[in-house]
Amino acid sequence: MKVYRGKSVCGGIAIGKIYVYQKGGQSVTRYPVEDPEAEVSRFREALSRTEEQLSHFYEKAAHQVGEADAAIFSGYQMILHDREYLESIESRIRSRSVNAEYAVAAISDNYVAMFSSLEDEYMQTKAADMRDVSERLLEALSDSPGRKGRLEEPVIVVAQDLAPSETIQMDREKVLSFVTLGGSPTSHTAILARSMGIPALVGLASHVTEGGEKWEGLKALHGRMAVVDGNTGALIVEPEEEVILHMRQLQEKEREERAFLLSMKGKKSVTLDGRHVPVCANVGNRGGLGLTLENDAEGIGLFRSEYLYLEKDSYPTEEEQFEIYKMLLEKMGDRRVVIRTLDVGADKQADYFALVKEENPAMGLRGIRVSLTWPEVFKVQLRALFRAGAFGRLAIMYPMITSVKEVRRIRSLAEEVKEELRKEGIPYGNAEQGIMIETPAAALTSDLLAKEVDFFSIGTNDLSQYGMAIDRQNPQLEDFYDPYHPAILRMIARTIQNAHRAGIWCGICGELGADLELTELFLAMGVDELSVSPVSVLPLRSRIRQISLKEHREEVLRKWLQE
Ligand code: PEP
Ligand code: MG
Repeated sequence: MKVYRGKSVCGGIAIGKIYVYQKGGQSVTRYPVEDPEAEVSRFREALSRTEEQLSHFYEKAAHQVGEADAAIFSGYQMILHDREYLESIESRIRSRSVNAEYAVAAISDNYVAMFSSLEDEYMQTKAADMRDVSERLLEALSDSPGRKGRLEEPVIVVAQDLAPSETIQMDREKVLSFVTLGGSPTSHTAILARSMGIPALVGLASHVTEGGEKWEGLKALHGRMAVVDGNTGALIVEPEEEVILHMRQLQEKEREERAFLLSMKGKKSVTLDGRHVPVCANVGNRGGLGLTLENDAEGIGLFRSEYLYLEKDSYPTEEEQFEIYKMLLEKMGDRRVVIRTLDVGADKQADYFALVKEENPAMGLRGIRVSLTWPEVFKVQLRALFRAGAFGRLAIMYPMITSVKEVRRIRSLAEEVKEELRKEGIPYGNAEQGIMIETPAAALTSDLLAKEVDFFSIGTNDLSQYGMAIDRQNPQLEDFYDPYHPAILRMIARTIQNAHRAGIWCGICGELGADLELTELFLAMGVDELSVSPVSVLPLRSRIRQISLKEHREEVLRKWLQE
């Protein structure tokens, strides 16, 4: 038995086999084969396994996200039935007596190059589809651990690192737990794991076991039995029988606690002295909507729209975005949905954004700065948003704001978009427009900003990062990070106060909102809404229902703000 330590980003216990996830894109080697016909048969077997897998994906996706989005897999099936494509692969195997992997990679690369060379957006999508299909064929041909998160059975996924776009592709049902060697608790991947409600560890400490034994390497863990204790941050490899027994008992206890939390469903998040503070959910992927509804959130307080962009190989079109926003709004009915505009840069990157490598990305071209640098891309998203606004209670939120000047530029672009839609006779809704307060500049000028917008939502993750000069991605800084630093708490208090003075509402959507130690303080400050990952909704509701601030509001403020 070996125990490795990491930082827990989502509690809970997982017991199962380890699956070592390796990044895709390994090079394919070419080697000669003696019997090309046998190689062709091997290829055909892989083809039929891939077909089976894709039709399974289609059915599953249709069930989870609807037939419109599942159609991508029927498109893949069409590629697998394309005679020209298949014949080219087989004839390459026969004519050059080469292995099937090489033939698949070489022929697919030709197609990808051909599609990519055409400027047309549709052709670019085809190139991306072709790349994915070829990856799946290669996977079916190889015996090595999968590359794209294709999981056969429920497993503990262990990886060097996981990008948000990789995490999102994994099948939630098959992931018992995520464990990464790198990463920090407030990185986007960690947030994603939390919103999926899966026990997760990051920053597996220094690769040494508790007993001081040396790290055996990532690959050596593949297929081994393990326990992840998301409560203490331990990865226990090949646990002894009694450890498994003990962990199963803990799992049972957690199930009982869960049952108590479920009894919170259908109840309101009201304090003992009668204040209603809606608890909403943060959603970072399509699966998050299911969890939001399952956990009875009173709205969506933050939809991180960048995931629509990171999932793809090119910018999502206005129509694609419109359909998703509309679906979100329709599913949430009369509950408010706050959709944040594209917040990329720093740890959220996709190749096609073509962002220049920066010395200091967290302080670089990110968030609203990207949108204001490429207004034509921004306007596509605004059009999709305002159009979707006709179908529910939409609030549009802008990230990484630092000044009134930025807000005025945004609002004038938003007016342009509405004017264009009006002229084109396309219906749109009058969505609320608000900003994230996540830079000290915004918090300290929240009195000025409050006059320009309909609401604020405080992003404590970035506000803490910038306020304390602590890189949220850097696990080495853990000891210097103080989530309760009065500088941050004072900025939050000041922001809420300034919002109320200007008659607008103010929520909190960063991770601190889920910290039950702080709930009383946030209520004392007068916060109007808390938005947390879906799994934190019910614990937070239960906490709010225990609080009464009638007598000691001032005392709570004094204690935390040290004023
Ligand atoms: C935040 O910064 O607190 C926030 C909610 O936004 P993100 O974590 O997506 O940067
Ligand atoms: Mg942020």
